[in-house]
Amino acid sequence: MKHLSQEKVYQIVQGIDIIEVISEFVQLNKAGKEFVGLCPFHKEKTPSFTVSPAKQLFYCFGCGAGGDILSFLMKYENCSFVEAVEFLAQRQGITIAEKKGEPFEDSKRREKELLIQINELAAQYYHELLMSSSAGRAARKYLDFRQIALQTRKEFCLGYSKDSGKDLLSFLQKRDISPTWAKEAGLISTPHQGGGEGEGYDRFRGRVTFPIYSHDGKIIALGGRKIDEKAFGPKYLNSSETGVYSKSSSLYGLFQAKQFIRATGLAIVVEGYLDFLSLYQGGFKNTVATLGTALTHGQVKLLKRYTNKVIFLYDADQAGISATLRGLDIFQQQDIDVQVAMLPSGHDPDSFVRQYGPQELSKRIAQSRPAIEFLIHQSIQRSGISTVEGKVKATKEILLILSKVSDPLVRMEYVKLAAKHLNINEEMFADELQRKIQEGRRGGWRQATRAGSSSPSLKEGIDCGRLLAAADATQVAERMLMGLICRGHVSMDEVLAESINESDFQSESMREIAQVVYSLWRDRKRLVSEELILALKDEKLKGVVSGFLFEEVNYEDTKRVFQDCVAKIKSRELTRKLQSLHHEIKSRSENDSEINRLLKEYSEIKKRIIIG
Ligand SMILES: [Zn+2]
Repeated sequence: MKHLSQEKVYQIVQGIDIIEVISEFVQLNKAGKEFVGLCPFHKEKTPSFTVSPAKQLFYCFGCGAGGDILSFLMKYENCSFVEAVEFLAQRQGITIAEKKGEPFEDSKRREKELLIQINELAAQYYHELLMSSSAGRAARKYLDFRQIALQTRKEFCLGYSKDSGKDLLSFLQKRDISPTWAKEAGLISTPHQGGGEGEGYDRFRGRVTFPIYSHDGKIIALGGRKIDEKAFGPKYLNSSETGVYSKSSSLYGLFQAKQFIRATGLAIVVEGYLDFLSLYQGGFKNTVATLGTALTHGQVKLLKRYTNKVIFLYDADQAGISATLRGLDIFQQQDIDVQVAMLPSGHDPDSFVRQYGPQELSKRIAQSRPAIEFLIHQSIQRSGISTVEGKVKATKEILLILSKVSDPLVRMEYVKLAAKHLNINEEMFADELQRKIQEGRRGGWRQATRAGSSSPSLKEGIDCGRLLAAADATQVAERMLMGLICRGHVSMDEVLAESINESDFQSESMREIAQVVYSLWRDRKRLVSEELILALKDEKLKGVVSGFLFEEVNYEDTKRVFQDCVAKIKSRELTRKLQSLHHEIKSRSENDSEINRLLKEYSEIKKRIIIG
């Protein structure tokens, strides 16, 4: 287990600028003293996600998520506290000392490091073969033919794997990497016969290789394209999935392109390595390749860190179109604006740039259309609505497309457009669409996507609001007082002077926060918001405290508010005392000598409650 003291963690967090780190994941814009963006933790159209450089905290006014940079990373990357700290440590070149013993998590991490190391060795080995060996001549010729510039070959570490099929294994073995690990790294294929026995051979033999980078720049896999069209095997090939590589959550080129995607606010999505490289070297550096037809949920989430707008480049073939259709649900869930730019029939992005040049491509991109509109036009063109059959077919297809649009206002706009192009009655078309949507609901898929898209924290927020409305005045007072304490509007000395103790906070969340606040105060005789956030273990409570810190309060008389809160909280104690006195008085006989004293005490407490 890595050794992490509170001080060490604090030091690591202190060395980080929260704006810098969060803007790698969320597009942030400056708004006054703070930065705002669309919340990655709930679906929204206007930004309520706020990051404060002064506080080094984030808070979402929409869903209540909040905390420091560690809470952000844990929530966003769904990683552990230690992993989040490590991520920040690495950025600053700080190493975290390891304690003896090696629990499961650490050996896993070491395994991942080894897999990456093997991939990087292999990529480098293939790269050198491509750049300077005589064996690489055919591959160089192939890349010349595809007009991939020398600079591009270097920047993306392109390579060549010899035809023989055993080269990589022996190269790795000289570096103490066993065939088992080479296989584990996804670079070796096992012979079909013999059920995986034997050492296997280079998966990419006879191919140009394209290293696949993780979004933070590590080589996690390779892709290969054969250079002899007549050679055995598929045209394109990727590493098998490994402990560090999953096809559905990687995007080719993202590491190199991400800064350009963020700068332009737009990602161009293509399918293949060569499409990507062609565009990138043609000046379209904000491009990524999916290495497959449809974008997956994981890939969209990855893109969403850098942009909310995506353009697909397609030629007029059907495969691309149905891929767009399949991806629409995912994009809608993530609130990404999807556009489609068309290329002339028979052209892919690579061949188009080579034939017409970057300027022509810029024009095509500028003419891109919203995906739905594009799909409607495609359907009409393909079906040919001059015949009855064609019209029926197109209508059915378009109904299916529009039934996937979740925003009713947007849907109505498209109904108008579609009805006009299909030359049918708009109202009838709208009715038919409504029927289709209801059918879909009965079928269940809509409900499923609905449930998936509303975040649990949002639901909690609503429940929380309802609870608050029903809460008694003392609960409100507890919250207000805790807010005053967290923002430093009152000092702990003042609070203790009023003999408000941890136990005076009785609502569950306030009590838990109070426990941490009081113990920090006891240990350090100070209350610093960063330390408080760090010390809170529960993510929800971090959110609550961040909420206090981001709250814009302008009390005319803070001391007066403080006194009110104290009185309210104390009055609960008094009420309880009153009840027990009441009970006691009733239980005694009229001529008990104590009764007068009890009655006097009772009326005094009652007076204090009324004044409070
Ligand atoms: Zn939110």
